[in-house]
Amino acid sequence: MKAIIFGAPGAGKGTYSTRLKAKLGVEVIAMGDIFRAQVKENSELGKKVKSYVEKGALVPDEIVVEVLKQHLAKVPSGAGVILDGFPRTLEQAKTLETILKLDVILLLDVPDWIIIERLSSRRTCKNCNAVYNIRFLKPKIENICDKCSGELYQRPDDSPDVIKNRLKIHQDQTSPLLVYYQEKNVPIIISKTTAIDTPPEPLVEQMFEELQKLKLTP
Ligand code: ADP
Ligand code: ZN
Repeated sequence: MKAIIFGAPGAGKGTYSTRLKAKLGVEVIAMGDIFRAQVKENSELGKKVKSYVEKGALVPDEIVVEVLKQHLAKVPSGAGVILDGFPRTLEQAKTLETILKLDVILLLDVPDWIIIERLSSRRTCKNCNAVYNIRFLKPKIENICDKCSGELYQRPDDSPDVIKNRLKIHQDQTSPLLVYYQEKNVPIIISKTTAIDTPPEPLVEQMFEELQKLKLTP
């Protein structure tokens, strides 16, 4: 299965893709996680992307595409892949077509007000990138990751100004891609969130069942 997971910042792409990874045994390539790790290490790549990531601006295509290719090259042949955070622009979508053939789009449909509530109370594990929410998806012990006992932190781009910028970019540049994929007849599985405290499990289960119908599960 070659999939992209699609949705606004804070829609739950990371949460869903890690759960689907565990259920399906696929690889997940999460562009934002990759960039944050590089910034933290202060690598050459990290230095190049730092200012963009901090502002919630898009990293230039040449860099993103190169990073994507490097990570795809590491995926064992025949393994499924979920791309989280790529493509975000029409240019990126066109480039992706020359690299792989998508089987399905996993679309997280979440109303704006929920997105804003969630992003401002989101916490991320410093160590394994697991995502929590201090109001709606709490860790068992405050500020500590359930999975790896790592410390939780608030992403600097989860501040109100940067959130606004990321949402605008999503609206202007990323959400139009949906029409593009509809026109290409790529199957789309839609997972709709309507309440702020909906736990991810039932929605992940539904998504899994839809993937089964498309014969994309192992
Ligand atoms: P979000 O919650 O906004 O979806 P991500 O963790 O996926 O956050 O991405 C964080 C940041 O990494 C983005 O704001 C952007 O600076 C950079 N980034 C991630 N993916 C891409 C991409 N495909 N193209 C350009 N920049 C990207
Ligand atoms: Zn962790």
